[in-house]
Amino acid sequence: MRIILLGPPGSGKGTQGDLIERKYGFPKISTGDLLRQAVKKNTPLGDKAEAAMNRGELVTDDVVVEMVAERVAKEDCKKGYVLDGFPRNVKQAHMLEELDHPYEVVLDIRLNEKTLISRLSSRRICSRCGNIYNIVVKAPVKAEECDMCQGELIQRRDDEPDIIKERLRVYHQETEPIVQYYRKKDIYHQINGDRGIEHVFKDIQKILENEIKKYKQTEAVL
Ligand code: AMP
Repeated sequence: MRIILLGPPGSGKGTQGDLIERKYGFPKISTGDLLRQAVKKNTPLGDKAEAAMNRGELVTDDVVVEMVAERVAKEDCKKGYVLDGFPRNVKQAHMLEELDHPYEVVLDIRLNEKTLISRLSSRRICSRCGNIYNIVVKAPVKAEECDMCQGELIQRRDDEPDIIKERLRVYHQETEPIVQYYRKKDIYHQINGDRGIEHVFKDIQKILENEIKKYKQTEAVL
């Protein structure tokens, strides 16, 4: 089973992906996280990706698809996986389909632009464990320090105001057309992301439990 998390930057895909992983055991694969790790380690892939990421633009399709293909081939993805931040344009959606054809569910988390901008600009990430905070609504106990591992909290470079604007522009231009693509396939679910984390996750659980039931029925028929 492949779960695709769609939605603009700041809609909570990463947070919901982590909750899905914890509850259902499907690993979350975030292309943004994989790319940031590659940049941090100075790998050839990271070097290729860094400039585009810092500008808030998309990294080349081939680079990202190769990275995803390698990750989903791993043993822990056999029963299913959650994609966060991929596909990001229609070409990537086609390339993903060429990779394999599992039972698919698309969850599109929607949120208005004002809230997205405010969420992204108040987001902080632990530089050690990657835990996500929001200095307004989910602040750490100690300022600038991770509650879980005491690592230093940092602001992602692309969460700065000018880059946020560019990322949202890229989302509307490149990623939103995917919605039409998936809607046609009847595997698409829209979710209102403008509520608390638990509320959003409740909606997601309802959809997933229904889809898992359908998936098991399909498997029984085959
Ligand atoms: P994210 O953490 O998902 O917001 O991604 C951060 C940045 O990584 C994006 O702004 C892009 O530069 C790059 N990126 C992540 N996923 C993709 C993708 N599927 N295709 C191209 N670039 C990506």
